Amino acid sequence: MWLAGPVATEIAGLASAARPRETGGLLVGWWDDGALVVRHALEVPDQRATRFSWTRRPRVAKRVLQTALADLDHPLLGYIGDWHSHPEVCGASGRDIWSLAATSEQYAYPLLLIVHLPDETLDISAAHGGRACSVSVSRQDPRIHS
Ligand SMILES: [Zn+2]
Repeated sequence: MWLAGPVATEIAGLASAARPRETGGLLVGWWDDGALVVRHALEVPDQRATRFSWTRRPRVAKRVLQTALADLDHPLLGYIGDWHSHPEVCGASGRDIWSLAATSEQYAYPLLLIVHLPDETLDISAAHGGRACSVSVSRQDPRIHS
C-alpha cells in the first residue's frame, strides 16, 4: 500500500487536536494494480470518545463519507478502511484487529486499519474476508502526488 498525499499529515493533525482523547474516522483511496493507495483521512466525530476509546458512529460515518466524496470529486476515491488515534503508546489492540477482520467480511477487497501513536508512528493492519493479512507500506512524496 502507498500512503499518498496528505493522509499522514491529516491523521497527525486530527489526532493532536483531539488529545488527550481518541479520535478516528475513515480512510479513502483506491486500488491500483494490486496496490492500495491511501489518499485522505476523514474524521468521524464521536462526542463520547475518551482517552481509551473512540466509537465509529455508523450514521455519522456515512454522512462524512458522502460529503467528502462529493467535495473531493475524484472518480477513483472510495472507502478503504478506518483509522483512529491512541493517545498512549500502544499499537492496535486485540479488539481493534477483531473488529477490522469482522468488518472486512462485508467487502470484496482488503480493508485497512491505521492506528496513530503519540510518537507520530502509524501502526498499520489489514484484513481480507474476515482474516488479518499482512501489509507492506511505502510513502510517496506528497509534493509529487498532491
Ligand atoms: Zn484502538
